[in-house]
Amino acid sequence: MHKGIVYLVGAGPGDPSLITQRGVECLQRAEVVVYDYLANEQLLNHAPASAERIYAGKIGGKHNQGQDEINSLLVKKGLEGKRVVRLKGGDPFVFGRGGEECQELKAAGVPFEIVPGITAAIGAGAYAGIPLTHRDFTTSVTLVTGQEGKDKEESNIDWERLGQGNGTVVFYMGINNLRPNMQRLVDYGRSPQTPVALVRWGTTMEQQVLTGTLADIADLAEKNAFKPPAVTIVGEVVSLRDELRWFDTRPLFGRNILVTRAADQTGEFAGMLAERGAKAIECPTIRMIEPENWTALDKCLDNIQEYDWLVLSSVNAVRYFFQRLELRGLDSRALGGCSICAVGPRTAEELRCYGVRADMIPDDYKAEGVVAAFARLDVKGDRVLFPRGDRARDVIPHELGCMGALVDSPVAYRNVKPDRLPPAAVFALEKRAVDCITFTSSSTVRNLAAMLGEDRMVDMLCGVAVASIGPITTKTCRALGLKVDIEPAEYTLAAMTDAIEQFLMQK
Ligand code: SAH
Repeated sequence: MHKGIVYLVGAGPGDPSLITQRGVECLQRAEVVVYDYLANEQLLNHAPASAERIYAGKIGGKHNQGQDEINSLLVKKGLEGKRVVRLKGGDPFVFGRGGEECQELKAAGVPFEIVPGITAAIGAGAYAGIPLTHRDFTTSVTLVTGQEGKDKEESNIDWERLGQGNGTVVFYMGINNLRPNMQRLVDYGRSPQTPVALVRWGTTMEQQVLTGTLADIADLAEKNAFKPPAVTIVGEVVSLRDELRWFDTRPLFGRNILVTRAADQTGEFAGMLAERGAKAIECPTIRMIEPENWTALDKCLDNIQEYDWLVLSSVNAVRYFFQRLELRGLDSRALGGCSICAVGPRTAEELRCYGVRADMIPDDYKAEGVVAAFARLDVKGDRVLFPRGDRARDVIPHELGCMGALVDSPVAYRNVKPDRLPPAAVFALEKRAVDCITFTSSSTVRNLAAMLGEDRMVDMLCGVAVASIGPITTKTCRALGLKVDIEPAEYTLAAMTDAIEQFLMQK
């Protein structure tokens, strides 16, 4: 029988970009993914839609139990000839029971590979600004489990060794045993004043850090109801955090921002927000689809050489236009004879993906800006092609028409309402866990109102800062009963991100 293979892949400590390239490759080719509670679920997006996804926490009941069932499942899938990814938090061989899983696979004759990952201690140290070693403080670090049996006699941990010297000690799974573990270090020789940091959900947007000393950290953790999963870092290096912390000092750290753009366009904006520390909650309220038919656009494409100008007023317009151009057996060379206007820098950047440079970008990145730019030229008698979304305003065709241009504006894509809102986004709104909602076009607002109901939308957004990309969207917000708090001077996502930061920092 054809044998499969099991890849034990370290998912890294939490931040989904901290997985290795090899780990991503394995996921991309997986037929089955068995994943853990601590592995970031976003990583599953790397796997093909057809891959079977199995949450290991559900196997054999409560998570952390049922290791035998997990082992049997891996063996079974492997013997069935499947390419299996066993996705584990951090590194598979550091307190990950990866060794045991491999032994079972080996015994059953199922081939396996190990893909290391960034373990929690390393990830949490980095994102908390705590170097685990530093020439001025210590030259060694010990990773140790914090959840051994409570009886001192039975301990396999060499407490005597840990108590001596000044090596950094990182406990995994140690929050429930924090008090006895800290006490033992003191009993075995560490100064009660040794700095300690607890790092919970390290490297993620939910990261929490609590610092104290061996003497008081257990009380502080109790007072703050500090919960697992967390690592406990003990040693003088912890004092460097004051100087070196960077992740949780970013201006928007801990802020939740709802992004209503189309699903395939949230990534870029989410990345900009993440750079400032904010978490983007995806809540697409628009979806782009093909036009009902292509006749109008195809007619224009067949006569593309007759146009003097091509006007593209969104990234979507660029994408749909070029996809169709290609389907008609043409490419950017067909545009050799016409000048191109892009509504703003982002649209121009998208054009560059097709090897085309925009000849004109207006100062004001909206339809009125395009009109103003054309008003400075003589376009009388010029033929203009304006492929657009079905919901686009008539400003461009109308005003250019008034200038004497002959404008064709075929629909190149339709902007529709998705079937439903993501439950996580609705939940965040209901919990009042959203700091700011962003609207990047009028349809994003209109559709949200249609999907939630106007009154419910206004109620749910009470106390949430509303950010609108520009005056047209702002007008739509107001018409639907929303007060707009943030509107950037320039209609770009970068400017919007700046404006959000400014507003939320003052709050
Ligand atoms: N194989 C994993 C460890 C699994 S044991 C690794 O290499 O990281 C589970 C323990 O790991 C948790 O109890 C906690 O102590 C630690 N841990 C995992 N992810 C963490 C995170 N993001 N932040 C802090 N601690 C984490």
